[in-house]
Amino acid sequence: DTEKQTLGFQAEVKQLLQLMIHSLYSNKEIFLRELISNASDASDKLRFEAINNDALYGNDHELKIKVSFDKAARTITISDNGIGMSRDEAISHLGTIAKSGTKEFFGKLSGDQQQDAALIGQFGVGFYSGFIVADKITVESRRAGAAGSEGVRWESSGEGDYSVEQIEKTHRGTDIILHLREGEDELLSSWKIKSIIRKYSDHISLPIVMQKEEWDEEKKETVLKDELETVNQASALWARNKSDITPEQYDEFYKHVSHDFQAPLTHTHNRVEGRSEYTQLLYIPAKAPFDLWDRNKRGGIKLYVKRVFIMDDAEQLMPTYLRFVKGVIDSADLPLNVSREILQESRDVKVIRDGSTKRVIGMLEELANADEQEKKDKYATFWTEFGQVLKEGIGEDATNKDRLAKLLRFASTANDNDQQITSLEQYIARAKEGQDKIYYVTADNYVAAKNSPHLEIFRKKGVEVLLLTDRVDEWMLSFLTEFEGKELVSVAKGGLDLGALEDEAEKKEHEETETSYKDLVGKMKEVLADKAKDVRVTFRLTDSPACLVADEHELSGNLLRMLKAAGQ
Ligand code: ADP
Ligand code: MG
Repeated sequence: DTEKQTLGFQAEVKQLLQLMIHSLYSNKEIFLRELISNASDASDKLRFEAINNDALYGNDHELKIKVSFDKAARTITISDNGIGMSRDEAISHLGTIAKSGTKEFFGKLSGDQQQDAALIGQFGVGFYSGFIVADKITVESRRAGAAGSEGVRWESSGEGDYSVEQIEKTHRGTDIILHLREGEDELLSSWKIKSIIRKYSDHISLPIVMQKEEWDEEKKETVLKDELETVNQASALWARNKSDITPEQYDEFYKHVSHDFQAPLTHTHNRVEGRSEYTQLLYIPAKAPFDLWDRNKRGGIKLYVKRVFIMDDAEQLMPTYLRFVKGVIDSADLPLNVSREILQESRDVKVIRDGSTKRVIGMLEELANADEQEKKDKYATFWTEFGQVLKEGIGEDATNKDRLAKLLRFASTANDNDQQITSLEQYIARAKEGQDKIYYVTADNYVAAKNSPHLEIFRKKGVEVLLLTDRVDEWMLSFLTEFEGKELVSVAKGGLDLGALEDEAEKKEHEETETSYKDLVGKMKEVLADKAKDVRVTFRLTDSPACLVADEHELSGNLLRMLKAAGQ
């Protein structure tokens, strides 16, 4: 297939392109960040493939990214000597969206430009962002290891279709040529491009080079020289000193590694020495991704070994319940040819994972326990977005269970709303004198929990009850039976013992009542013999005449409903 061929974009691509061009125009400079980010990823991929095949470098070992412009032709070109693309790769990578959550994303679009712009940002704009400023993009690429005659030219005006043809290309890697739209000429300046690169791409560890510019006395204008200069710092951001990194640089680096558009909530950056030596730079996103619940989704940690990129999504480096964490871990000890299989068994990896887990928990504690309102708000955001995932840790991570339990937040009868803001420590601090238990009720939703008849006696006595309505709660509770010496007790289970909360006079009165209803209860038991295990007089209810309870050691009503719904 050497002929020039015209192909149609996947329907979603068309839709995305149109939306993006309009809704992201006010943010148009980000196109350069996205294309430089791709060039950097392509170089990382080459470096990784070359670990086992040095020949891929040919005679060109010096990886870099070059940005140039042509005032007369009105083009900006971003070139890299990274992995490159074959014809088939260009078709599948630039003509379709192969991202998990794509369907959900398009389902959420509302037609409201502002809302959709935020969504698009969250989805990630990538390569197509070039069309914000360009009315035609030409991509010329040659995959590392392929012959010079096997280059590919991909071209599109970002409407319905694109063309691909085979070309001769002298160098490995990819050139992205943007043909600027009418009115975008201000981008055709060294000064402008440099300032965009410094703002968004300074953290890129490869050199980003441009032709030097010089004032020409005769022509009375600046002219480009053949000499190249490096525009960014060109060192791995995570290897720099914390004090040399600005908050903006941390944020931009996050956007690069996470492919997210929004700034993160917080980060932790540490160099760890000792039994295992590594650097970690880990971020908590501000928003849950579309595919947070996708079981096949991989983690968000990029693994480097001594600055060499090894792999994306190194799921062995973070426990599943922290799968939302993004960032970089750079090990000084692992071998360069490490594979996923080796990672699974490596003791070094286990040490790194344990250390990183503790760091992430520490980062969350810092927000959760802070006095500043800003940090408190951040923790509330975190809990809304990722709280349900963190709860999985109670069952998964016995080592850190106590610390995780303190990070839990619940809705409670102490507040008159469904916000999950009450911690177990707070609950205990507010407990009644003599109350040695933590009471909770589980239900499908907040309204059902709040109106549970089981709560009546607690309301009357002024005892707080936690209202648990997330799907993972029942499962989590099977691992969380006590907190700081206080048993967690469902108000819907068994012969509820209110212990010291009941006074002597009440106890006596209850005994008398039970005796006087003995006959009635006996008859009811007979009638309900094959329907109920037991019938008891209760003192829990104040308004309702009767309620169903689960036996002490049986599955609760709510869990039974869940299992039934799951077809068990
Ligand atoms: P993402 O970077 O999130 O994967 P993009 O839309 O930015 O999404 O890029 C889509 C894909 O196109 C990349 O995953 C990569 O496979 C390919 N690609 C883009 N730019 C380059 C490049 N400069 N060199 C090699 N491949 C590239
Ligand atoms: Mg990209």
